[in-house]
This record gives sequence, structure tokens and C-alpha cells, in this order.
Amino acid sequence: MSELRLNRATKEWIIVATERAKRPHQFQAESGKEKLPPYEPSCPFCPGNEKKTPPEVYALRKKRSFPDQPGWRIRVVTNKYPALDPEEKMAKISGKFFRTTSGAGKHEVIIETPRHNKSIATMSLKQVEEMCLVYLRRYLVLEKDKRFKLIIIFRNHGVTAGTSLRHPHSQLIALPLVPASIRHLLEEAMRYYDDHGSCVFCDMTDEELTARKRIILENEKFVAFHPFASRTPFETWIVPRKHNAGFGNISQDEVKSMAMVLKHVLKKLYEKLGDPDFNLLVRTAPLKDAFEDYYHWYVQILPRLTTPAGFELGSGVYINSSLPEETARFIKK
Ligand SMILES: [Zn+2]
Ligand SMILES: [Zn+2]
Repeated sequence: MSELRLNRATKEWIIVATERAKRPHQFQAESGKEKLPPYEPSCPFCPGNEKKTPPEVYALRKKRSFPDQPGWRIRVVTNKYPALDPEEKMAKISGKFFRTTSGAGKHEVIIETPRHNKSIATMSLKQVEEMCLVYLRRYLVLEKDKRFKLIIIFRNHGVTAGTSLRHPHSQLIALPLVPASIRHLLEEAMRYYDDHGSCVFCDMTDEELTARKRIILENEKFVAFHPFASRTPFETWIVPRKHNAGFGNISQDEVKSMAMVLKHVLKKLYEKLGDPDFNLLVRTAPLKDAFEDYYHWYVQILPRLTTPAGFELGSGVYINSSLPEETARFIKK
């Protein structure tokens, strides 16, 4: 029998196909990934090739080392092929029906480590902490730019997750508009707040903590779980315990704590499933809504273990061929 489950926060319906559900171990990568070398001479993100990228806009580097030269631990550069134009003025909408707006925005690449073959799962905790800190620092710089309305931080791990360069990196895009899908999320969260007088993400975290069926890790500041209505097998949410709509508002302690949970969660996925491809998203409120009571920032990890097909594209309803209760148990074991 199939079961339809509702994600109360996103209002997405998910079909959990229990009949043809796979056991968690069936998602393990069959043939291990190709082993990468620690240094790849042709890789533009490897040390020594700094001139192959646009100039760095920020870096954590050794004392007495210079911009665009080796000696960095984390390096941020503008994307060589940016999706948006950093020089554009304020977005102006034009066209009566066929509407366009100028593509003002920033598209940055955060090169997480000089080592070509590392990933969050295999980096040191210190390195992951610095990566999270750089996420925050770049966010805080870009949120001051009045042209931008939403900042998205994401990471594509592996070819099926959309990465074109294997060197570990995250990306950050500052957008001059709030897309309809994010507006929808906010509206649903606002509606929940009006009806219940509380934040749906806070309530969801409390409910998960009470149910204790899908929690995979918790610490003083964060709770990680496979949501009741997971969109994909092993989908993971990392939710801060403290209510806060905007990622830019987090403290240094939360950065450290976030790194700890992130590393642990991804290490588990790496070990249990054999380094699966995944997308990681830092879901945060649009800049103007960063202090609202009804929205709550979180990290969403979507492993690429199945491929959305025509049904998903046509209906927006995802079919999950696993049970979050089982995948959570499997990951924790
Ligand atoms: Zn490299
Ligand atoms: Zn909340």
C-alpha cells in the first residue's frame, strides 16, 4: 500500500511507495566512485592554478601569503560563468506580458579546501567550521547590497547533483528577486503561524523530537532528522533549535555547532551509502523577512539516489521509495 504524507512546512505531498519500498541498504552505491588524486594539475581550483579563476574576493590564508597565490585554506572567487551580472544596476522590470528584468546578482564559488579529493565527510572538523564561517561572512557582506533580495548557498556533490568540477566547492548566489517557490514557502509558513500562533519549523522539530523515529543526531543547538514526508530517500534536515528566520543572524557558537552536525551527517551518508551524490541547500528567508516569527532557516540535504521523472515534474508530488523511519534507523546504526 502507498501512503501520502504531507510536509507541514512546505505543504508538499509525498507518496511513500511502501509496496515497492527499497530497504535502506539497497541504496548503497554498487560500484565505488573513482578515486581522485589530492592534486590535479589541470584543475582551476587546485593550488598553483589561482590565475585560472577570476580574482579572489575573499580568502582564509597563511600569514605572509598573497591574494591569488597558494597559501589559502579557503578561497572565494566570482564564478567564471556567472548566472547573473554583478555590475548590473537595480533590477528594473520591463515588458508588459513577456516580462524581463536585468540580471543583477552575484554568483560566487567557495573553494572549500586546497585538497582536490576531500569532501565535507572527509575534511577535518576545523576545515568544515571555517567553511561554515565563510558561508556566513560572504552572506553578511552580500546582504548589505540593496539590489539583492535573497541569498542562496548550495553545494552540488557529484555529477548527478549537477557539479561540473570535482574539486570541493560550494556556491552562493545573491538574487534580485524572490522566486515564486520561496514566496509560496513563506506564505504557507505565515498561514500556519496565523492558525497556530507558532512557527511550523519549531513545531516540526518538537514533534520529531517527541516521536523520536526519524532523528539522526541532535546537539545543544541543532536537530538533524529525516523528515516525515521526505522527498527523496535519506533527505535530511538540519534545523537550529533556536527560532531564527535568517541564516545571517547566527552566532559563532551556532557556526561551530552547524559544522559539527553537517560533518557528522555527511560522514554517515558517505560511510553507509558509499559517497552518494547530493545537493545541500541553506534555506533562509529573503533578506527583508530575516527577523520574522513564522519562518525558520535550515539546511536541507537531498541525496541523488533516485531521479525525478515525468510524474514528479508534472505533479510536483515526489514518490519516495523508502521509509524515513527505516533510513533514519539505518543511518544511526
Ligand atoms: Zn582541484
Ligand atoms: Zn521557528
